[in-house]
Amino acid sequence: MTAALKIKKGSVALFSLALLASLPAQAAGAPAGSHVHGQAHLSVAVDGSQVQIQLESPLDGLLGFEHAPRNARQREAVRAMAQRLRQADGLFVLTPAAGCQLTQVDLRSATLPAELLQAKAAANPVATTTKAAADSHGDLEADFSFTCSQPAALKGLTLKPLFAAFPSLRQIDAQLATGNKQSAAQLTAKNPGLTW
Ligand SMILES: [Zn+2]
Repeated sequence: MTAALKIKKGSVALFSLALLASLPAQAAGAPAGSHVHGQAHLSVAVDGSQVQIQLESPLDGLLGFEHAPRNARQREAVRAMAQRLRQADGLFVLTPAAGCQLTQVDLRSATLPAELLQAKAAANPVATTTKAAADSHGDLEADFSFTCSQPAALKGLTLKPLFAAFPSLRQIDAQLATGNKQSAAQLTAKNPGLTW
């Protein structure tokens, strides 16, 4: 009886391990959270004069395709998207009186060649034979850092220009954390603002 129980426990443990091991494979390329086209996740952390914004989005909503670029036109589309996101102070508009400056942008995607996401295109672009199978999904993760000269004046953020720049992006689930407030909101083109 005891032995049988032990074996059973062992099998359960093995099963659990197998299950755990299979999870990352299923979620390959996808950050935490669901991959739903047209929906993105945003987290905003305000700490004194520092504002950190993290955006996680299916590439579909930003780019219109979710595979490595296969021709010059698609490479150009990736570059254009990256360039737009690098000008994030035109996409995420913080309270103007707070004097916030965009200080850093970091773009990552397991699907796209890294050199196309960089600020400057590589001198000799690498042939684009990137991993991901043709029918798989792809995401983009982006980190934006702002520093504000008048943080006391900082009261909110609007994503109106982001929705205008990427019309396929229909909904953004936003989480906000400031020194004394945590909240969540669903932002859309009609309701693009986050205040605190
Ligand atoms: Zn997808």
